[in-house]
Amino acid sequence: MRRAWVLATGTELALGQSVDTNSPWLAARLAALGVRTERHVVVADDLAALRDVLREATRGCDIVVLTGGLGPTEDDLTRQALADVAEVPLELHPPSLEHLRAFFAARGRRMPERNVVQAMVPRGAQVLPNTCGTAPGLRVRLGRADCFALPGVPFEMYAMFEREVAPALRSAAGGAVLLFRRLHTFGLGESDVGQRLADLMQPGRNPTVGTTAQHGVIVVRLYASARSESEAQQRLDETEAEIRQRLGTIIFGTEDETLAAAVGKLLLGTGATLSTAESCTGGLIGKLLTDVPGSSAYYVGGAVSYANEVKTALLGVPNELLERYGAVSEPVARAMAEGAAARLGTSHAVAVTGIAGPTGGTPQKPVGLVYIGLHSPGRTEGYEYRFGSDYPRDVIRLRAAHTALNLLRLKLLETQGSAPARRMPDTCR
Ligand code: ATP
Ligand code: MG
Repeated sequence: MRRAWVLATGTELALGQSVDTNSPWLAARLAALGVRTERHVVVADDLAALRDVLREATRGCDIVVLTGGLGPTEDDLTRQALADVAEVPLELHPPSLEHLRAFFAARGRRMPERNVVQAMVPRGAQVLPNTCGTAPGLRVRLGRADCFALPGVPFEMYAMFEREVAPALRSAAGGAVLLFRRLHTFGLGESDVGQRLADLMQPGRNPTVGTTAQHGVIVVRLYASARSESEAQQRLDETEAEIRQRLGTIIFGTEDETLAAAVGKLLLGTGATLSTAESCTGGLIGKLLTDVPGSSAYYVGGAVSYANEVKTALLGVPNELLERYGAVSEPVARAMAEGAAARLGTSHAVAVTGIAGPTGGTPQKPVGLVYIGLHSPGRTEGYEYRFGSDYPRDVIRLRAAHTALNLLRLKLLETQGSAPARRMPDTCR
């Protein structure tokens, strides 16, 4: 498989004042063309630094894609750096100059002299026409590496990549592809997931298997390279089946599927309905549920019951419970879930009450302590979680919301009486 480096130039990018969105786009497009990106480099507008990184890149990979630095100003150094590393002079490319003059003429403007520099190209370079801007792109052979220099302006870069780079790479690839797949899990930590998949995560395996973690969701990522798309899909299918065997019901979805969508899938068509009662999550669970199109088929709504009076008035939580156990307690979480289900007439309800911090914690009830109430027909359960008092407020809230949705998901799986192995086709793509 061919290996690429992606180089983005711009002092504003290197200083973190603006975000490099071109590189991830390029890496994804390269993958689809069977090219594996091994390194992303962001370089300031500095000739020496740019030359250094180009020299290194041309020893380390087969393809270099540069973005930015083709403009007409002093800080646009890509042309010069390429010429220096190739040890050739810059020469005027008359058709590009013609294009520049026409570009300005079409807009009723005279071309500033400064822009002539955009028609200067390293001797021997192939010029890549710019169909929606001024600066032409360049294709230069440096050592073993095929270098493509593209504009920094995103829409100009996208267009040039599709017109000029993709066809060149595709014809050289002979159909080879790199495909991705994601499996989302909830309920085990990253190291536990890693332990169960250890042999699949060995370096050099194809598909490559890796994990990333965010807000309690552990994502298992698969990358397969193959000579054809169908072969890559088949490799992914095989590895996915093996992972499902090992992880079972902790897998809740693939690709962009969320926990809320997984819950929705289980509720849909069963006649079950859902309501929510939220204190420390302030409506976040309702938000996540209603992010899913079609959620009105099962989710009716809920109460954001932050103050005790609202827990009592809207959900009928007995005052006596609040006084005896406190608002952040398992009995109150259960009473909130029961109250939501009863008052909103739903078969299921989830409730959350906790301390999201950063203040309000005590030794007995620290920041991060969260109780979740879960009502299902004929049954109400309470759960206690300690998410960690050093976590920021938004992390605790999202953890709590995800955990509540996952408890509901597991309850629905259990009550629908499906053994994990039989449920799997539902969550396969
Ligand atoms: P060009 O090569 O097209 O002339 P440039 O680097 O000379 O680009 P700049 O003036 O630095 O041009 O950037 C032009 C615009 O493109 C800016 O709005 C900048 O934020 C955006 N841009 C440049 N590089 C990137 C990048 N890597 N990711 C996202 N946006 C970018
Ligand atoms: Mg720039």
